[in-house]
Amino acid sequence: MEDIFCRIIKGEIPSQKIYEDDDVLAILDISQTTRGHTLVMPKEHYPNFLATPQDVMHKVLDVAQRIGQAEMAVLGAQGINILTNTGEAAGQSVPHFHVHVIPRYFGKDGGFSLTMKSQDTSGMNLPLLAQTISKEIK
Ligand code: AMP
Repeated sequence: MEDIFCRIIKGEIPSQKIYEDDDVLAILDISQTTRGHTLVMPKEHYPNFLATPQDVMHKVLDVAQRIGQAEMAVLGAQGINILTNTGEAAGQSVPHFHVHVIPRYFGKDGGFSLTMKSQDTSGMNLPLLAQTISKEIK
């Protein structure tokens, strides 16, 4: 399937490349949620993280780690969020596996906000939940 990242990879749409090898491309996110916000993606098309073969996923994460290290060193970032949205329900808007590398800065984080609120777990059977998921891991 042809998506905007496939077209960037083919060179049909311009991008700000920050890393490229035979299998992986990293570009600045057009939205720059924070300064240095980067997207790391496989050149081969896979729709999302869960559908990506392990060896390809490892290559993408390796590059994401190295970019995070570089951004900590040169941008004065004090932290990094590594994020991959998987599926529309999780906010994925481009159906081509990519990892967001989002540098974080105390007091000047631009448009970034991530809030995880605790739910009431009193109605949940947590041992059963843990077992249900655990049994399905392949
Ligand atoms: P997601 O919502 O997790 O699928 O992330 C898709 C990201 O792609 C968003 O953060 C967009 O800002 C970014 N994006 C969309 N089009 C482009 C483009 N042409 N160049 C760079 N980043 C883009």
